[in-house]
Amino acid sequence: MYLNKYYNLAKNILFPICRSITGNGIKKTFKIIKSQLPKFKIYQIKSGTKVFDWRVPPEWNIKDAYILDKNNIKIIDFKKNNLHLVSYSVPVSKILKKSELLDRLHDYKKIPEAIPYITSYYKKYWGFCCSYNKKKQIIDSYSKDDKFKVVINSFFKKRGNLHYGEFLIPGKSKQEILISTYICHPSMANDDLSGLIVAMALIKFFLKKKNNKTLRFLFIPETIGSIVFIHKNLKHLKENVIGGYVLSCIGDDRMHSCMFSKYGNTLSDQSLREAYKKLNIQTKIFSFLKRGSDERQYCSPGIDLPIASIFRSKYGEYPEYHTSFDNFNIINLKGLNGGYRVAKLAIKILLKKIIPQSRFLCEPFMTKRKMYPSISLSANYKQMKFELFDFLIYADGRNDLLKISNLIRLNYKKTLRIYKLLKKIKLIK
Ligand code: ZN
Repeated sequence: MYLNKYYNLAKNILFPICRSITGNGIKKTFKIIKSQLPKFKIYQIKSGTKVFDWRVPPEWNIKDAYILDKNNIKIIDFKKNNLHLVSYSVPVSKILKKSELLDRLHDYKKIPEAIPYITSYYKKYWGFCCSYNKKKQIIDSYSKDDKFKVVINSFFKKRGNLHYGEFLIPGKSKQEILISTYICHPSMANDDLSGLIVAMALIKFFLKKKNNKTLRFLFIPETIGSIVFIHKNLKHLKENVIGGYVLSCIGDDRMHSCMFSKYGNTLSDQSLREAYKKLNIQTKIFSFLKRGSDERQYCSPGIDLPIASIFRSKYGEYPEYHTSFDNFNIINLKGLNGGYRVAKLAIKILLKKIIPQSRFLCEPFMTKRKMYPSISLSANYKQMKFELFDFLIYADGRNDLLKISNLIRLNYKKTLRIYKLLKKIKLIK
């Protein structure tokens, strides 16, 4: 099974790579995905490009980073764990006093052995991360006058690029389901690699099927990646995306949870609810106010894409979140498979839905279509005219046939008949 295969790939090969929102880690990750899925496409956008209110940051790469004590012993070493360095740290080589060093050392008291994950993408900063116990040990073993050497060999490329990846499975219709996951975290499993594992397995599953809608899988650096992608494709997305999901933290086996789109009333929300029900899974529903990933962009004003989120233990809600303890001890095949089944079924339900979309802005001009005489409408024609217009007003790509039938108070059979007629005369797609 592909889930198993990609689980091993993530655990043994992808996990140690130092990823960030740009740079060699992400490029290497994409190359590995492409080796598994040859039709995987990699896009690049120049650093400095303006995207809505943001600018694509310079490309960041890191060669080495460490802290030496007075005896030249490495007390913190990025090469031992890439979480030791604050991501996007600026280059540094200097001697520090103990108190200065401690100011730059971040820890996480809640799990005393865990190294926290900290980033500073948009504010120039440098720093290190270590476990609470390690910091305590440094405090205890050195005197106030001891000196430390810190070295960060990082590089910023102003003429660099930001990369994102995409896998498209064309379907019978242009209507599109968008599946989005992020690949910008260094060595962490639930928050990052679990989404990639599940997304890759879903690609393999749907590649073998004849799908009546198009499926687009996105692998992006969080936030800036979705902003870049939306900026580039907004018109297409608004015209074609009928639903989709952010896959994040979808690999542990402690719970099922989800977050619906901003108003909780889209076809994605509805399909996800149906999927949990069919699988008989109890799920915790988080309020959209608890958002924290790319749904923030997909559901923002003017973008308004119908995107919900599927989790096992949601980001920010489990103790190991954003620490070195978010590793392959907390995710497992059972957990991944649980998330995979929910996502797969929700997508299948979305695929099955008939979602009519009017082909015109404003009402179409019916008279020229000679659907009915323009003067002296008989009662039957009148009724039919109302039904057609009623159908059309709700054919905005946000409702499936069943919902339209409820909205216009017409039984499903009759609604289906109108659908077929409107399709025949090319008023809907
Ligand atoms: Zn995260």
